[in-house]
Amino acid sequence: MVRYANCAKMLDLDNYFKILEQTCLKRGMYFQKVDSRKTSQICPNCQTETDKKKLLERIHVCLNYSYTTDRDVAGAQIVFLRGLAATVKMLGVSISEAYLGLSIGSPKT
Ligand SMILES: [Zn+2]
Repeated sequence: MVRYANCAKMLDLDNYFKILEQTCLKRGMYFQKVDSRKTSQICPNCQTETDKKKLLERIHVCLNYSYTTDRDVAGAQIVFLRGLAATVKMLGVSISEAYLGLSIGSPKT
């Protein structure tokens, strides 16, 4: 099994993120890197940490509120929530303002 650090070296993810950040800056877009750890172990619906899943387990199931979704969708939702939280903290705005701010950088009509 190849560990993430080894994959990152092979794919040069550090360089990829630097280029992505520079591209966002150049185009006036916001860039936020978030912690990618445990994205498949935390429920996006209630933030409860679930058991560690094997790679073959493709469905996220949380018994707290009967929330079930694809594992990758749940992971993406956690990444989104972390990015939103970081944005709220950085800008000092409310979550609803941050949601509205997702359109920041888009041309005004
Ligand atoms: Zn849950």
